[in-house]
Parts: sequence; C-alpha cells; structure tokens
Amino acid sequence: MSLLDANRHLRPGRARVKLPILVYHKIDRIPPGSRYPRNYVTPEQFDAQLAFLQRAGYRSVSFADYLAHRDGGARLPRRPIIITFDDGYRSNRTIAQPILEKHGCTATIFLVAGYVGKTNAWDPDELQEPLLDAGEVRAMQAAGIEFGSHTCTHAPLTRLAPADALAELQSSREQLGALLGRPITVLGYPYGDYNRETLRLARDAGYQAAVVVRRRMNTHATDLLELRRIPVTCLTSPGRFAWDLFRLRWFHGS
Ligand SMILES: [Zn+2]
Repeated sequence: MSLLDANRHLRPGRARVKLPILVYHKIDRIPPGSRYPRNYVTPEQFDAQLAFLQRAGYRSVSFADYLAHRDGGARLPRRPIIITFDDGYRSNRTIAQPILEKHGCTATIFLVAGYVGKTNAWDPDELQEPLLDAGEVRAMQAAGIEFGSHTCTHAPLTRLAPADALAELQSSREQLGALLGRPITVLGYPYGDYNRETLRLARDAGYQAAVVVRRRMNTHATDLLELRRIPVTCLTSPGRFAWDLFRLRWFHGS
C-alpha cells in the first residue's frame, strides 16, 4: 500500500476515535468510618465493569498510546479506553492489578510525588491508607502499568500562587521521572481543580497531557491538557456504567 493509500485509510478512522477515560481511586471494600465512600469501588464491581468493557469491544490503552495516535496517527484499537487511578493507593497493586490482569487490561496511576510510600496525609480527616512505595511503583511499571503526576502534595493548584503551582508541577515531574527512569508526560490535577493559568503552567512544566473530571468522551478536538474522565464510584450501577458509555458515545461525542 502506498503512503497516500495509507493516509486515506487512516484519516477517517482518526477523526472518528472517541476515547472514554475512567477515573477510580480505590478498589476495595468500604471500611467503616470512611468519609468519602464514593472513592471506593468493590472488587466485584470492578471485575464486572472490566468484563463488560471486554464484551462491549473496549481495549484499554495507555496515554503513551493515545499521544502517539494524536501526534502521528499511530493505530489504536477500534474502541480504545483508558483506565486511571488517582493518588496511588497500595490496594491498586494488591487488589486492582490482579483484576486488571485477569481481563488483559492496563491502567495509568497518578502518584502524589511527596507521599510515595506514605499515606493520604494531605487529607487528615479521611482514614489513612498506605500508598504505593518506590519499589512497588517500579514493579508495577515493569508489569506494564503507566504512571503520571498528581503533583507533590496534592495541592489545589488554582489556590496557589503561580510560582508555587509551577513548583508543584515541575518538582513532581522531576521526582517521579527519577523514580521511574523515564519522562513523566501526563498530569492529574488534584481535585480536578484547574483554570486557564493552570493549563499554561502545566504546559510550561513539560506535560503533554492532563486529565480533569468531566462526564464526556475525548475526540481529536479535545485539548490534551483537559482530557475528560468519567468518575466511577461504589454507587455506579452496572446499568449506569454501560449507559454512560453508550450515551456519551452516541450523543456527546465532542
Ligand atoms: Zn487525588
């Protein structure tokens, strides 16, 4: 096939790609006394959701795959999806990873650089749970899990002075890059909190993509620094999960 033919073949496909991105926090039983039970999805729910995705023809990809597609037209599966986790809880490794592997899925985890190996101490009112440590992060990377930055201290970026926000973005990128031995390209804004200035700072800090929380698909028209993610919680029923993906695919593609 000539290059011209290849382009003709690729272009319509590129324009049509609609990418859902899911956001989870913890796959676990909800411990009594948790202040934010919606940050949990039970292992049974997660297992059923991944089984549904497989049946519906979705194949999980990484941000690296998606960026290669947006940059240069690299091929994606017909129905790509990105599965993400915020904060980097240890249960992502002990509970979520085996379920991901069972279904042949990959995922991307956003780490709080200053709290690797500690607990979610940025939120002292919530139950404290262990976060992934450096060795666990490296082992997961070796098993195909992708990592991004969730800043150094999980600070709400729009409430910081611009210089401090930039320091959060740059320093976490450097620390995590050193930990993983590769450049960090993707950012998750803590609390989904961002504005125009945050986008500029994220770009200045060297991120190629960043994720927010918004119940929409992503298309080629979506700003890479405002990629939308669909939240999944313990209250997301199987019907709602399936309906969201169907509805967004057909009625809210852009
Ligand atoms: Zn977070």
